[in-house]
Amino acid sequence: MEKRNGQRVILFPLPLQGCINPMLQLANILHSRGFSITLIHTRFNAPRASSHPLFTFLQIPDGLSETQINEDPTSNVMSLLAKINVNAESPFRDCLQKLLLLQSQESERISCLIDDCGWLFTQSVSEILNLPRFVLSTFKATFLNAYPILPLLRTKGYLPVSDSEAEDSVLEFPPLQKRDLSRVLGEDGEELDPFLRTTVETTMRSSGIIFMSCEELEEDSLTLANEIYKVPVFATGPFHSYFSASSSSLFTQDETCIPWLDNQEDKSVIYVSLGSVVNITESDLSEIAWGLINSKQPFVWVVRPGLVRGAQGIEPFSEEVVRSIEERGKIVKWAPQQEVLAHGAVGGFLTHNGWNSTLESICEGVPMICLPGGWDQMLNSRFVSDVWKVGIHLEGRIERREIEKAVRMLMVGSGGEKIRERMNVLKDEVGRSVKHGGSSFRSIETLANHILSL
Ligand code: UDP
Repeated sequence: MEKRNGQRVILFPLPLQGCINPMLQLANILHSRGFSITLIHTRFNAPRASSHPLFTFLQIPDGLSETQINEDPTSNVMSLLAKINVNAESPFRDCLQKLLLLQSQESERISCLIDDCGWLFTQSVSEILNLPRFVLSTFKATFLNAYPILPLLRTKGYLPVSDSEAEDSVLEFPPLQKRDLSRVLGEDGEELDPFLRTTVETTMRSSGIIFMSCEELEEDSLTLANEIYKVPVFATGPFHSYFSASSSSLFTQDETCIPWLDNQEDKSVIYVSLGSVVNITESDLSEIAWGLINSKQPFVWVVRPGLVRGAQGIEPFSEEVVRSIEERGKIVKWAPQQEVLAHGAVGGFLTHNGWNSTLESICEGVPMICLPGGWDQMLNSRFVSDVWKVGIHLEGRIERREIEKAVRMLMVGSGGEKIRERMNVLKDEVGRSVKHGGSSFRSIETLANHILSL
C-alpha cells in the first residue's frame, strides 16, 4: 500500500450519480497520494461503502421522508437539492465538529474539506470550524464562470427568443446560443438566482476550486475562473482516467452488454444514454427507438428506471418495437459506461452531454450525437458540436428521421470520418494531460502539495 502522509481529507459529495462519481474518483486520487479519506454522505443516494474498503464512510440524516426518497428524485432535482441543503446543514456541522474534536486522539490531522459547489452551507460551517474548504466543480470551468452572469442574462430581455435570433451567440456566454438559454435558466426563473449568488460568494471565500478538466480542453476558462473567483484553481483532469466510475455506481450495472458488444463489428455500435437525471416522454422514447431501428446500426441503449416520465422501463413499447429492437439492439437498465465506451465495437455515443459522459467519451475517442436536457449540458454540447467539432447536435429534435440521419452520418457518412479524425486528435491531447508530466498530472501534484502545506 502507498505510504500514508499522516493527513486526512474529508469529502462531501452531492447525492447525485454525476457528483458522487467524480468525488469518489478524487478520493482515490488523493488516497493514492498518501491521504486518508473520510466521506460524509446523506442517506439519500448513499454510496456503497463496501466498494471502497480503504475509506471511512459516515452517513448523516438528510430529513427526506421515505416517500420523498422513493418517488423519482430526478423529477425535480433543484427542489430536492434545495431541501437537502436546508436539512443537512446541522447534521453535517455536528458530524464535522465531532471529527475535528476526535482528531486530537488520532495520529492523523484533518487538513481540509472538499465538497461539491452545489452545497450552499459548507463554506460557513468550515469557517466556523476553522477548516480550509476546497470546492469541487463537477461542471466545465466555462459553466461555473457563467454563474455570476446568469441572473443578469435573465434580465437582459433575451427571452423569449425569436426564430430569427435562435442561432445567435449569447455574447456574454459563448459558445452558448440564444436558443439554449431557456434550458439553462430554467422555468423556475428567479428561484435559481439566490442559489447562484450563494455559490459564487461561498466559492470566492473557499481555499480553491478543483475542476475535473484540463488545460487542453479549456485553458482560457481555467485562467478566467482564477480571475473571477480569486482563489487557486486546480485542473486535475478527467478523473476517470485514473480511477473508473464503476465502483461508485448507484445502480446495478448490466454487464451482459459487453459479451454482446464482443459479437459486433469494429466501431459499428452506437451507445445511447441520457445519464442519471434527464427524463423524456413516452413519445420521445418511441421516436428514439424508431430512429435507432431505422438507422440499421447496432445499438446499446440505457433505459434506466425513471428515464421515461410515468413509466418504469420499456413497458410503453409495443411488441413490434421490442421485436425490431431485439434484431439489432441491446437495452439495459444501467451500463458499465466507461467499459462500453472503451469497447472497440462502439463507434458513437448519443448522449445528454453531462460533463462526466462528455469527458468519458473524449477520453475513449468516441464521437457524439448531442441531445442535452438542460443546465450545463447545453454548454457542453455546444463545445462538442461547435468548438471541438467532435459531434453532431440534434438541436433538441427528438424525431425518428433526425435521429436516423444523425446516426448514419456519424457512423457511416463521410462527415463522420472528419469528426472521428478530430476526435482522435482531441483524445490524444487530453490523454497526454493525464500522463506523467502532463498538465493534469502536475495539477494533482500541486493540489496534494498545497493540501499538505495547509
Ligand atoms: N453512467 C453509467 N452507466 C450508465 C449511464 C451513466 O455508469 O448506464 C455513469 C457515467 O459513466 C457517468 C455518470 O453515470 O460517470 C453520469 O454522469 P454525467 O455527468 O454524464 O450525467 P448526469 O447523470 O449527472 O446527468
